[in-house]
Amino acid sequence: MPLNLATCRHILEETIGLLRKRSSMEELELVEKAYLAAARHHGAQRRVSGDPFLLHVVEVAHILAEIGADTETVAAGLLHDVVEDTELTDDELTDCFGGGIAHLVRGVTEVELAERDDDGEPDNSATFKRLMLAASHDPRVLLIKLADRLHNMRTLQYLEPEKRRRKALETLDIYAPLAHRLGVARLRWEMEDRALMFLHPEVYADIAGQLRQSRPQREAVVNAFVERLEGKLNELGIEVTIFGRSKHIYSIYRKLMKSRQPIEEIKDLLGARVITRRTADCYSVLGVIHSIWRPVAGSFRDYIANPKPNLYQSLHTSVLDEQGRRFEVQIRTERMNFLAEYGLAAHFTYKGDEELDPLLDNELIWLRRIVDWEKQASSDRGFASAVKVDLFSEQIFAITPKGDPVDLPRGSTVLDFAFRIHTDLGLRCAGARVNGQVQPLTYRLSAGDRVEVITNSSAHPRPSWLRYAHTAQARHAIRHWLREHPEHAVKPNRTLVRLAAKGDLETYRALLDRVVHLPELELTKCSYTRFGHSNIILNVRVPDTDKRPAEEAACLEELCRDFPELTCEVRR
Ligand code: MN
Repeated sequence: MPLNLATCRHILEETIGLLRKRSSMEELELVEKAYLAAARHHGAQRRVSGDPFLLHVVEVAHILAEIGADTETVAAGLLHDVVEDTELTDDELTDCFGGGIAHLVRGVTEVELAERDDDGEPDNSATFKRLMLAASHDPRVLLIKLADRLHNMRTLQYLEPEKRRRKALETLDIYAPLAHRLGVARLRWEMEDRALMFLHPEVYADIAGQLRQSRPQREAVVNAFVERLEGKLNELGIEVTIFGRSKHIYSIYRKLMKSRQPIEEIKDLLGARVITRRTADCYSVLGVIHSIWRPVAGSFRDYIANPKPNLYQSLHTSVLDEQGRRFEVQIRTERMNFLAEYGLAAHFTYKGDEELDPLLDNELIWLRRIVDWEKQASSDRGFASAVKVDLFSEQIFAITPKGDPVDLPRGSTVLDFAFRIHTDLGLRCAGARVNGQVQPLTYRLSAGDRVEVITNSSAHPRPSWLRYAHTAQARHAIRHWLREHPEHAVKPNRTLVRLAAKGDLETYRALLDRVVHLPELELTKCSYTRFGHSNIILNVRVPDTDKRPAEEAACLEELCRDFPELTCEVRR
């Protein structure tokens, strides 16, 4: 049965409730006023579902309030369709609501007009371009469009099958990656799951069904994990909140596609998130976890010291429980968690935060760069593909001297490029001219780099090349060559050093803090227990020492000077 206006009113009240804490009375009144204007102008308009049109805009406003957007954005969310769909003009909007809101609504309207032009076209490059240009002037336009799209995805079943498919594909192509790029994980997950539900209903039902079936077992395992960890942390007086965590369906689907394994094999179905009070506690919790369970080699990631481009911060580690089940744990502070869920939207909530503002300003530079892209691109399609490569894809294109594009995964080096062109070119690679500048073979390529490989008849692969090669193809060729030329296959000096000490939690934190910030050392494992002879253990890997042995040794020596208790045991 179609919903009525009372429902709309109810959702508005909830929205205002969400905003109350962070808004002044005048701001809340503005939201109320925007609601009344939307109600008046959309009048008896109905959506395909039969629901009043007003329901759509009110739901959009609610989503915006949920992700932490400011009141202006929420009010603009209520008004986002009035100019496009009703008699109200831009000027009237400015008179009633002020320039800020009118500006936002104008931005959204322009995008929606471009969407209409794109209708029936094979791609969505005009929409994408409008969207990015509007966002480069005010990123909040993007938030409104994301909320708008999410609500449209929630009600997609009312459209005809062909239109559904197109909207779902467009969501995966543009909106979900944008949500990810802006760090708004909440929106991204739901959009992806809903898109999958419409594109591959059987697959979606299958994964959802299996997740449901295995839920009781998974919950039991997670509860046991949480209980044990909580007990231990209580002993140490570290306050945390722990949640069990399940993956969203689309991310399982993507892993299934990539690995072609049965769903039971997808490793990180079991997970927990630990929320701490302070950043230092994150490392303490990490140490405690590693002292209880065995960490999976190579799974530790420190996104606190090295945030992701979308500002995501967290520690990640995977451990094995007694039964050998793999457990994925994320450790972060409350604020990091808020940022991880709401990303850009949180910018407006945390405005004036001294620590965060410069970070976010820096982060938004990519949006401002969009304007330059627009000047360079000759067509909508050219613009869309250029920006998409820069923004979302894990693939980059480098260009040969003849102008042929070569696609490589992000992080690829000159060496990967050379092997991608031809194995012989890779085997003789000595470096490259990148955009005219000579660079070593270790040089990391960026999208659009023009690369001319430099060869040298005396050049040949070395074991260290394996560290500079990112692609499977290059690594395979290097290994193959080294096997055939054993005289060159000297083992790389990857020294594992075990740092052990007896000390309290503070010493442990201080030591960990030092090690994490030393670029020469790579932390692979750390643990802290209260009792025992060496209750502080850190394993670090010292990168290939054939180049600068003195620096790494000096770095360890200095560490030992500052922490007299510390012993370094070298393990090869
Ligand atoms: Mn809309």
